[in-house]
Formats: sequence, C-alpha cells, structure tokens
Amino acid sequence: MKNNEIRIKTCPKCGKIYSGVPALSRTDNSTLICPDCGTRESLESIGVKADEQEQILETIHRFMQP
Ligand SMILES: [Zn+2]
Repeated sequence: MKNNEIRIKTCPKCGKIYSGVPALSRTDNSTLICPDCGTRESLESIGVKADEQEQILETIHRFMQP
C-alpha cells in the first residue's frame, strides 16, 4: 500500500531529515523544504525576526506532540 509509506526526506535548506508533507520554498517556487523551513520562510516574509521565528516554531512543535 503506497498510502501507508512513510517517506523520509532531507531538507536542502537546513539539512534536517524529516517525514511528512514538504513545503514549497518561496525563494524559487520549486525546491521542496521541510515544514519548519516553510514556516520560517513565511514568517520571514511578514518581517518576523530569526529569534522570534525559532520561538514560534518551538510553540508549533509543542502543540504537534502526540
Ligand atoms: Zn529545513
């Protein structure tokens, strides 16, 4: 069953190994990056500073824990 396949990918942006749905990079609209980098890019695009981005990601991770 292909649907149950867990795909492990490496993010070209941060080098992190991740599984799940990738995000499309805003920089070239064709590179697939990890969801974290996708969040970082969208936060950056609205003017959120790097340290604030990490704080927001931390919060997102906390909520996504099973
Ligand atoms: Zn990444």
